[in-house]
Amino acid sequence: MNPYIETLNRNKATKAFIELENYASVHQVPIIQYESLMMLQMLIRTKRVKTILEIGTAIAYSALQMATLSEEITIDTLERDEKMVALATKNIQQFGKQTQIHLHFVDALEIELDELQPQYDLIFIDAAKAQYQKFFERFVPLLAPGGIVVTDNILFHGCVEQSLSDGLNLSKNVQHLAKKIDQYNHFLNTLPEMETYYFDIGDGLAITMRK
Ligand code: SAH
Ligand code: MG
Repeated sequence: MNPYIETLNRNKATKAFIELENYASVHQVPIIQYESLMMLQMLIRTKRVKTILEIGTAIAYSALQMATLSEEITIDTLERDEKMVALATKNIQQFGKQTQIHLHFVDALEIELDELQPQYDLIFIDAAKAQYQKFFERFVPLLAPGGIVVTDNILFHGCVEQSLSDGLNLSKNVQHLAKKIDQYNHFLNTLPEMETYYFDIGDGLAITMRK
């Protein structure tokens, strides 16, 4: 991020969130980058988003950042890693956000849809990168009429572009993931009822809404 822009944005960073960011950095938990968070928060405010479905909680950094915007916001967030669920539970309690954030210890591809709300204003896709299209197809029926889908990490640290040029310095596994993300990005672009906007901020952000 441009350091000048970063300084301006970081004005609103609070101590409690900075502690979560430090934890994530030390333990290599891939939390949302700050500029992408700014875009996400701006969308939530301008669209007056009340109900959110998040795929991939990790330590609940992004969920807490979204929940602090308004007490009217409720979030269902899905996480399959037991260790992350324990950390997220602790953090949600520490921030006193248990009534707003409902954490589900579950694989997002296995949860029964009737355990969720019938509709969400925002769906935030941020879990296993190889499964993005599956997540999208599974949860898009829950998108409210004026709702938006936000997908994080669509550049995968530059690996998507690298895999398209030569990709020689990438491991087979990373190449595979990068190809899957590239396919997903193009998949979003060909949905007849949807419009997707792609942004080169953070680790790449796609914003999808009904036409
Ligand atoms: N949204 C968080 C970061 C999430 S990191 C933030 O920005 O703060 C991605 C998380 O998705 C990891 O914790 C991983 O365990 C989880 N995950 C990956 N695949 C999943 C799946 N199929 N179902 C549920 N969680 C999944
Ligand atoms: Mg992410």
